[in-house]
Amino acid sequence: MYRKVDAGVVEGLRRIVGKENVLLGPEAMEPYAHDETVGLRAEPEVVVRATSAAQVSAVLRLAQRERIPVTPRGAGYGLSGGAVPVYGGIVLSLEKMNRILEIDRENLMVTVEPGVITGDIHRAVEAEGLFYPPDPASLDSCSIGGNIAEGAGGPRAVKYGTTKDYVCGLEAVLPSGEIITCGGKLVKNVTGYNLIQLLIGSEGTLAVVTQIVLRLLPLPRVQVDLLVPYDDFQAAADTVSDIIAHHILPTAIEFMERDSILAVQRLLRKKVPHDDAAAHLLIQLDGNRREAVDADFEVVGELCLKHGARDVLVAKDRRTRDRLWEARRMIIEALNHESPVNHMEDVVVPRAEIPRLLGRMKEIAARHEVRIVCFGHAGDGNVHVNVLKDDISDERWERLVPAVTEEIYRLALSLGGTITGEHGIGAGRRRYLPLALDPAQIELMRRIKEAFDPNRILNPGKIFPPG
Ligand SMILES: Cc1cc2nc3c(=O)[nH]c(=O)nc-3n(C[C@H](O)[C@H](O)[C@H](O)COP(=O)(O)OP(=O)(O)OC[C@H]3O[C@@H](n4cnc5c(N)ncnc54)[C@H](O)[C@@H]3O)c2cc1C
Repeated sequence: MYRKVDAGVVEGLRRIVGKENVLLGPEAMEPYAHDETVGLRAEPEVVVRATSAAQVSAVLRLAQRERIPVTPRGAGYGLSGGAVPVYGGIVLSLEKMNRILEIDRENLMVTVEPGVITGDIHRAVEAEGLFYPPDPASLDSCSIGGNIAEGAGGPRAVKYGTTKDYVCGLEAVLPSGEIITCGGKLVKNVTGYNLIQLLIGSEGTLAVVTQIVLRLLPLPRVQVDLLVPYDDFQAAADTVSDIIAHHILPTAIEFMERDSILAVQRLLRKKVPHDDAAAHLLIQLDGNRREAVDADFEVVGELCLKHGARDVLVAKDRRTRDRLWEARRMIIEALNHESPVNHMEDVVVPRAEIPRLLGRMKEIAARHEVRIVCFGHAGDGNVHVNVLKDDISDERWERLVPAVTEEIYRLALSLGGTITGEHGIGAGRRRYLPLALDPAQIELMRRIKEAFDPNRILNPGKIFPPG
């Protein structure tokens, strides 16, 4: 179905992006053959590093003419294999398009290229007293283009929403090579279909994003972080829904089971208070007025204690806060360190269902005699479920993963949730799409894909179930 990259194609690519931006050979391909998804890899035939929308357009025109698959790639920190070139062909890296083009203080907007690392946007706008809330735990490694393609979220989604809530303008290149500009520095815009929201979360299957306008907020002046240990796993989960039921919207409510805390401790060689607790909540509150934040803090603290928290520890200074959040952000790495084979799911349920989700996850683990460690963004209903291989034999593991995965998905769906909250379908979850979406929706999505990319050159092998 697809042609191979031959010497003529390589020559054409060199003419577009320059010889230094066309990478060939096994050693150069290795970093582009995988993302952060455990156990998934496929080698590209060639890697092209574009530096402008015009170059992206010319690469896509060439690929279109030659019928060669193109896989867009940001920083390669995805967790669903979206940037893995499962059909080979060209990996189109946006890593060199990494400039923050403008911070517009009058309109509270920032304009960036797709390869900018998300944490660099945070730091740049915060230096101006401004705030870009979406904060994936990978923020110091992943790119804003990847965040848009995945619809990335983060702990602060509880109060501030996800990437989709901040994108006002996009420049994107269609698989045909045409360059389109959607929206701009506009807070309101209902001119025609909302193509911006269609491209967000489309996992690089519809267009390649080459420029982004993001809305900013004033930086909140006051922030309080609480670490709350519990002896009872379920009591921590119950607290999450009780806080929301009391109409308090913290910035973040993260849930961390004991095994995730212990794994981080071992990796960082730093002690977390109450490391023998069954679970911890990490809660952040923010605002502009100290009294208002303190009033919420009082209520949240009381609710935690009412549900049996051992203590409510307050991080008073920046250093302590940063250490707490560093520990939280290291959990994935720490679990991978513990058990290099680790199957991670990313289910999401209505927030009030969190206690049921977490409780029944324990039943699944017991039934399958496997260690399942949960942590994540409990405040927005999104939990990362880690099934650890530990010393399970390869043969049993091969049978176990599909069975456990399907049970986890069916549990989330039965609670009114879905199979991924922020990591995406990519290559890893596509065969499970029919569990979550009805045939009419999948067919409509196929027709949208067809309208953008009739020859299916852009990121094939993603989202849609095989066949
Ligand atoms: C330790 C760790 C913690 C994480 N925590 C979070 C978290 O809290 N929240 C969260 O949402 N995710 C999280 N992730 C997942 C991941 O970081 C996000 O999905 C992130 O958005 C990926 O960005 P990237 O630049 O690495 O994208 P890549 O992995 O390079 O690509 C991801 C997808 O985007 C497409 N793509 C990339 N750039 C473009 C572009 N310019 N135009 C079109 N398509 C493009 C690719 O084709 C691919 O389908 C975490 C990952 C790790 C490893």
